[in-house]
Order: sequence, then structure tokens, then C-alpha cells
Amino acid sequence: VDYTLRRAVSKMAELNPETIIQLLKQQKSIINGGKTGSLEFRLQQLQALKRSVQQHEREIIQALHQDLRKPEFEAYSTEIGYLYDSIGYVMKNLHKWMKPDRVRNPLVHFGSRSYIYSEPYGSTLIIGPFNYPFMLVMDPLVGAIAAGNCAVIKPSEYTPHVSAVISKLISECFDESYVRVIQGGQETTSTLLQAPFDMVFFTGSVRVGKIVMKAAAEHLTPVVLELGGKSPCIVDKNVNLDVAAQRIVWGKYLNTGQTCVAPDYVLVHKDVRAQLIAKMKEYIISFYGTDSQLSPDYGRIVNHAHWQRLNGLLEGAVVAAGGQTDREDLYIAPTLLDGVNWSDKVMEDEIFGPILPVLEYHNLDQVIEAVNSRPKPLALYLFTNDKQIEQRIMSTVSFGGGCVNDTIMHLVSPYLPFGGVGSSGMGAYHGRHSFDAFSHKKSVLNRPTRINPSFLFPPYNAKKLGL
Ligand code: NAD
Repeated sequence: VDYTLRRAVSKMAELNPETIIQLLKQQKSIINGGKTGSLEFRLQQLQALKRSVQQHEREIIQALHQDLRKPEFEAYSTEIGYLYDSIGYVMKNLHKWMKPDRVRNPLVHFGSRSYIYSEPYGSTLIIGPFNYPFMLVMDPLVGAIAAGNCAVIKPSEYTPHVSAVISKLISECFDESYVRVIQGGQETTSTLLQAPFDMVFFTGSVRVGKIVMKAAAEHLTPVVLELGGKSPCIVDKNVNLDVAAQRIVWGKYLNTGQTCVAPDYVLVHKDVRAQLIAKMKEYIISFYGTDSQLSPDYGRIVNHAHWQRLNGLLEGAVVAAGGQTDREDLYIAPTLLDGVNWSDKVMEDEIFGPILPVLEYHNLDQVIEAVNSRPKPLALYLFTNDKQIEQRIMSTVSFGGGCVNDTIMHLVSPYLPFGGVGSSGMGAYHGRHSFDAFSHKKSVLNRPTRINPSFLFPPYNAKKLGL
């Protein structure tokens, strides 16, 4: 069923390049007319967006259930409630961020005034993934509006019910030449990427991230890439194992493991491996019951292709918990794999599903060497009570962001920039960082004319050189 729907969405939205060129012209005239420039306008739009989401809350929750079987609590907290918080924070602080930032001068600019202006890029393109299909296009949109841009949103074709609600909500809320949703699949995105947008904000896989960046290079369009990868979760022996097990199980099986910052695999000290696995099993049962297929709090895999891919990772694996699958229901149980080696298939690519491999280590050097020899992760989680170990990991391992003694929660803070490094992405957003991500920083030096030293100007004679 989802395949047919996806095809329908792709077909419906086959995009004529001329349409997008016309739309960009309209957006340019809006920007040049100064309409999006004022604080009042931006606040009004953000307020309108919030109101519209509030009006469509039930539909959004229902669509998330249809596309991903997202439990209502998760749908609300991770996609809707989170967005309200984000809008509220931006609205409260925007007047400060919009002010030109006055900075100091070096001696050579004595008497001058120097400012950094935040100006909108102009037309921005926001491309979203399927896993948090609502929040991951709406939250970037908050940044785009706050910074005074126009936007085109391309939601995921894998979540057609959510994309339809987004389209409806946005068209009710905004003038379509200001913010517009264009639905469709790969071909539509390719067509959009050929157009000369002023900035592209992409959230999705590393593979498509490269396609986006190549296309953007054609117009020298700046990009923010929010990508993925394998995020390690390191568990030291000096730790509260019970809390560690609880927080890892929660972070991994939230949204059925389809979370970009989910712990991809666990690296646990050999002395506590068996205990950690036993405790994680207990938490799986306490969260989702003995049969998670019956749990209203456990979701499903987005489609058959992903289900098939995940099922393949279970072949020949040592299953310590879960392992049950049901193709028709797109179900895969919360699964723990034991006895995993780095050469196993499950350790090749980002898992992006409810399968958690557990590998043991003997000393921290092995951990650092293993993580540093692979692509830089989007997230890293470290469970330890040992300050020295914490220091060592922080100073020797590069990763986008993460937590000590928790999972996922770093991305909830508007004070922490969220983004990847290396192949897990470039650029960051959330809170003020969203405003900055969608702004060009224009540096302006304003020099007085009263003071006009002549030593800079030719002819550069011997006297000027002090000879
Ligand atoms: P995806 O890369 O397959 O798709 C993302 C978007 O790209 C979709 O809108 C899709 O239509 C478009 N697309 C797909 N193929 C394309 C092509 N060949 N040319 C042009 N456009 C194309 O990603 P997904 O499967 O929807 O999402 C899962 C991935 O996203 C995971 O890797 C995950 O880690 C990552 N992700 C990252 C973040 C983050 O914030 N860093 C958040 C969520 C997901």
C-alpha cells in the first residue's frame, strides 16, 4: 500500500522546471520588496505557523500513525510539542538576534564602527527525511522564517500522509509565493536542485547528501547537510548500569530505531557486558511488554524495502533479545545482538532500525582507535562516572554532538547547536543557531572621514617605508 501511495505522490508532483523558476522570481521580488525584513512580519508568520499546527494537531498525529505507527505520546512530544517550544524560544529572542552586532576595531580602524548584519539568504529549499517527517521540515522552516527568508519545502515521499498534512497546513497558513510545499520523490528533488536557490537545508542520508551538495555546487549555493552514520554508545565499567540500560533502550527503540541520533551500536567494557545486556532486556520488557508487537508504544518500519534491509542484518546473528519479525506488519522486535565483530554486516552501515549490536572492549585505547578509524559520527554517547575517561573521549574523538550518561537528549536544548561533522554533515541549527544557519553574516566597516591618514596611499616612497 505504501508503495502505491508513494508512486502516486511522485507522479502527482512531477515538477515542471519552469514552475520553480517562476516561483523563485516571485520569492525574489518578495525579498527585494523588504516584506520579510521586519521583526513584526516574521513574528506574525511564526505565530500563524504555530496556530495552524495547533489547528491540525489531530491530523498530524493520525498521519504519523498511518505512516510510521508512531505512538501518540511520541508523535506529540518529538514532533509537535518540540516544535511549539522551538517557535516559542525563537519568538522570544528574535528581536535580539536581528539587531546588527557591533564589534570591536583593530587599531588601524581607530574611530570607525564595525557591524555584523544578519541578512536573509533569500529563497531557501528545505528537503526532509521520513523518520521525523513533520518536525524535520518544520523546525528548519522556523529558522528560515526567523531569518527573513522565503522557503520551498520538499517533504519525504515515504510518509505520504504526513506530507499531505504539511502541504495543507502550509497552504492555509502562508501565501504560496512565500512558503510553498512541493511534494514528490527523487525526480522532483532533482528538478528542485537544478534551480538556483540561495540556500539548501537538507536532512537525510549521507548518499543523498552528496547528491545535494554536488547539485548545489553548480550554483555555488550554500548548504546545510544534516546527515547520519553510525553513532557509538560507549559504556564504561564505572557506571550506573541500571540508568545506562534504561536510557540506551529508550534512545534506541524510540521511533523503532529510525532516529538519526539513535545509538547505532554499544561498545561495553568486558567486565559489565553480560550485566548490561541482562538489564537492557529487562527494560525492553518493562517498556514494551513481553510481546512488543502488541504494544501501543512501539512503532513500525517505514516500508518494505527498509524492513527487508533490516531483516537481512539478522541473518546469522547471535540474538540476545528480540529477533522476531513480521513482514506484513512491517514489524521488527526490539533486538539485541551479542558476540558481534567489527567485520559483521551489521557494523558496515547505519542500522536505522531496532537492532542494537553489542561489542565488548578491554581498554579505552581500543575504543578510541575503533571510532576514530571510521567516518565521524553524528552522535556519541558515553556512560561513565570517571571524569578522566570523559575528558579523554572528549579530547580525542570527533563527533557531531552527544551526551555523557544519556542518549538523544542533547538535541532538545536550544542552546546547543545540532549538526554533524565530516560525513555526518555540515552546519548546525536549533535555537539561535537556526537563525544563524539561515542568515548571511554581512560585515560592514563604517569609517569616519575626519581622520584620513595618507600613509596607505601611493606613491609608496622611501619616507613612508621609514627608509
Ligand atoms: P534519504 O536521503 O533517502 O531521503 C531524504 C530526502 O532526499 C527525501 O526527501 C527524498 O525524496 C530525497 N531523495 C532521495 N533520493 C534522492 C536522490 N537520488 N536525489 C535527490 N533527492 C533524493 O533519507 P531518509 O531515508 O528519508 O532518512 C534517513 C536518513 O536521514 C538516515 O541516514 C538518517 O541518519 C538521516 N537523518 C539525519 C538527521 C539529522 O538531523 N542529521 C535527521 C533525520 C534523519
